[in-house]
Amino acid sequence: MEVSETDSELSQPQDDPVSVQQIIGEIKALEKELTEIQEVCGHTKYTVKNSQDSSSKCFSLRKICDSCNLDLGYPSRDEVDKWANS
Ligand SMILES: [Zn+2]
Repeated sequence: MEVSETDSELSQPQDDPVSVQQIIGEIKALEKELTEIQEVCGHTKYTVKNSQDSSSKCFSLRKICDSCNLDLGYPSRDEVDKWANS
């Protein structure tokens, strides 16, 4: 399953009342699935990209795994330079 920020369309009409509990249950199930994928992933390939911090809402450069989308931490200075020059 691919997770992409560009796919998040929030303009859906909200005609059908959907159970909040059902949505929360689905989110929990998907998060569990994602965590399981991330736990077995070797994070062999990653991309340096601008990522929004969930707590501070600030954007910062992070290393994001290409396979599982896990935040692998801050890139090194070399990696930042490479990102800036690409
Ligand atoms: Zn990974």
